[in-house]
Formats: sequence, C-alpha cells, structure tokens
Amino acid sequence: MGRRRKKTLRVVHRTLPSVFACPRCGLIAIRITSEQDPASQDFVFRVTCGNPNCPLHAGREMRYSTKRANIDVYNTFVDDYAKAGV
Ligand SMILES: [Zn+2]
Repeated sequence: MGRRRKKTLRVVHRTLPSVFACPRCGLIAIRITSEQDPASQDFVFRVTCGNPNCPLHAGREMRYSTKRANIDVYNTFVDDYAKAGV
C-alpha cells in the first residue's frame, strides 16, 4: 500500500525507451530485439510491432556490421518506412 521503500527507488533503469511508436498503426508497440549473427558477425536487429493487426507485426530485419543503439535502429526504420511511402 503506502509503504515507502527508499532503496527500491534507486533501481538502475535504462534511460532509453524499449518500446517505440509504430509508424504504421501509431501504437506504442514497436519492440526491437538484437542478436549477433555467428556466421557473419553482423548485428541483426528485428523490429516488430506488438499490434497483431498491424502489417509490421510480422517484423522486419535490419543488419549492421557494428552494434547500434535501439533508438538509432528505430530512427532508421522509421526513416526507411517514410521513404518507402507504404
Ligand atoms: Zn504497428
């Protein structure tokens, strides 16, 4: 209830958001996961919308040869999406 636990307020939180706005459906439902391809050493990012009715729910893969911040990947994704004019 109204218990105050000062220590738990100090939890280390990532400053960058992990969920982003979808350029297609507008929901804050875009999640980005990343993994390193063991074969090519590329960083593979998967951008997926959490809205099952959204075309971007299927996800889209983006590859980079260097590690990137999720926000950078997201910005590039939105930029590409806008240019594609879908
Ligand atoms: Zn969406």
